[in-house]
Amino acid sequence: MESGDGPRDDGFRFGNGRLCFTFTATLGDRGAPAPRERLAVPGDLSRWCVEAGLLDEAPPAGPVTLTAARRLREAIDRAAERVRTGGSPDPRDAEILNDWAARPALAPRLDEGGRLGWHQDGAQVRHVLALVARDAVDVLTGPARSRLRRCADPDCEGLFVDVSRPGNRRWCSMNTCGNKAKKAAYRRRHPQSG
Ligand SMILES: [Zn+2]
Repeated sequence: MESGDGPRDDGFRFGNGRLCFTFTATLGDRGAPAPRERLAVPGDLSRWCVEAGLLDEAPPAGPVTLTAARRLREAIDRAAERVRTGGSPDPRDAEILNDWAARPALAPRLDEGGRLGWHQDGAQVRHVLALVARDAVDVLTGPARSRLRRCADPDCEGLFVDVSRPGNRRWCSMNTCGNKAKKAAYRRRHPQSG
C-alpha cells in the first residue's frame, strides 16, 4: 500500500482553510516517521465528503476509488511542494491533477441565506475529487501560489495558504498545531505548572 500503514486516526483536519489542503491533510503528520492515514478504508473517504461539508449523505466508495483518491492526494501534495519551493509540478503529477480537474465536478449553488452550498442530486465521490483537483489547480496557478506554506509543526508539515496580511503565519491551523505550539511554549516558560 502506498500510504495506509500508519497509525489509524479518524480525526479529519479542516482548519487550514483550503479545500485541496484539507484533502492533503487526510494524510496527517507527514513529517513524522509514521504518517497518519486518515483514509484507511473506503468508508473514511465517504465520511470525509460529508464532514468537509460537501455532501449531506455519505456517498458509496470502494477500494478502487480510495486508491485513486490517495493517488490524487499525493499528486497534489507533491505538486504544491514543487510550487512552494519555486519549481514546477512534475508532469506526471500535473497529468493526474488535470485528468481529475477535467471531469464533472460537484456544482456550487447559492443556499438560502446566501451561503455556498453544493448540488446533491446524484453526487458521488468522483465529483468531489474533481472539485478538489480544480481547487488545487486554482491554488497552484493563482495568487495563492506565492503564499503556499508548510506547517511549522515538525510532525504535521501540512500545507496551507497564508492569507495573513504580513504573510508570517506558521501553523496549518491555530486550533490544532498553533494551539499545541502555544501550550508547549507556555510549559517552557512555566516548567512547574505541569
Ligand atoms: Zn499543522
